[in-house]
Amino acid sequence: MIYFDKVSKIYPDESVALNDVTFTVEPKEFITIVGHSGAGKSTLLKMLIAEEYPSAGSVFFESANIHRLRKKDMSKLRRRIGTVFQDFRLIPNKTAFENIAFAMEAAGRTDAEIQADVPHVLDLVDLGSKMWSFPHELSGGEKQRVAIARAIVNQPDIIVADEPTGNLDPINTYDIITILKKINGLGTTVLLTTHNKGVVENIGGRVITMEKGKMIRDDREGKYIL
Ligand code: ADP
Repeated sequence: MIYFDKVSKIYPDESVALNDVTFTVEPKEFITIVGHSGAGKSTLLKMLIAEEYPSAGSVFFESANIHRLRKKDMSKLRRRIGTVFQDFRLIPNKTAFENIAFAMEAAGRTDAEIQADVPHVLDLVDLGSKMWSFPHELSGGEKQRVAIARAIVNQPDIIVADEPTGNLDPINTYDIITILKKINGLGTTVLLTTHNKGVVENIGGRVITMEKGKMIRDDREGKYIL
């Protein structure tokens, strides 16, 4: 489904963020990417949404070279990938409902679909009761749940979550991972970065370890070795 073929990324300031990275992601996998700060985890995820371009190598989504897509096809691809970030990235002057509705409008969905689907995804993340709350009225864990609801509402094939629990306490971290596992169980591929050992152990499954831009381990059975 996703294929990184000898991908390297050197930023203009000469930082080597990725160094000859090759791996594949199969549909419905839940992959945890671990590594110290600066190891290249975020850059790896940014390649998938073409927020960064490789200095060498290629990234394929199905048979398409992501970085060679035309604008229109790129927009289509981006709709197939939902994103979640450590800092939530909600629109501050919109309610939980409106934040999610906004993502649906951008994808060209109808009003009827919005009215039907927003409450449904908010229920899925256990936040039906906070539909009309603004981000500043929500806790960190609740904000992240809205962000996840927004990421899944257009039914993407993949969720890319960059340190989604980085700003959360252990209980909220546990809840967020449980929700992501549930979404994965419903058939969505998940790629998540973390440097939290507990998170890795909770998720289980495939763990990729990055160090200084290199993929140094790819374990089928959740191991956190750093
Ligand atoms: P991680 O997510 O594992 O912390 P990053 O992918 O953010 O790692 O960073 C990998 C390396 O690339 C680091 O050395 C970082 O300083 C550098 N880097 C990341 N983004 C940029 C950028 N936009 N410009 C220059 N260097 C960057």
